Amino acid sequence: MSARIHAQAQRPAECPCGGATPNQKSGAKPPRFTDCCGRFIDDGALPATALELMRSRYTAYVLGDVPYLRATWAAETCPADLDVDPNDPGAPRWLGLAVKRHEQIDETHAIVEFVARHKSGGRAYRLHETSRFTRGEDGRWRYVDGDILEG
Ligand SMILES: [Zn+2]
Repeated sequence: MSARIHAQAQRPAECPCGGATPNQKSGAKPPRFTDCCGRFIDDGALPATALELMRSRYTAYVLGDVPYLRATWAAETCPADLDVDPNDPGAPRWLGLAVKRHEQIDETHAIVEFVARHKSGGRAYRLHETSRFTRGEDGRWRYVDGDILEG
């Protein structure tokens, strides 16, 4: 893995994922970025669970970290034209993450159900999705695909 240099000024103090976990208490204090998703996005640590990976991918969307999103996306389903630029005026502004369910099906398969709130074009939205993850022989969890749920 190549070392990647980041301007620390672009990194938030509190992690955008809020440390979201099923049955999280409301009003829980968000973890520090460097103690949470920063370990995976900036320091190259490997998420131990699909839940940790999912949170770090949400945070990568917030930060517009396309290389991280690609690196954590299954090759079969990763879009060729993935483009995430949070500074684009039309880009969604991510407002928060809630995790409803994390289910490890077996050693190499897991699902995470979550709600990600965002604002796009001045309107507020909720993205409610059940995502599928697989763990490769290299031990890395990767996002495969997801089902969008209503409500
Ligand atoms: Zn985080």
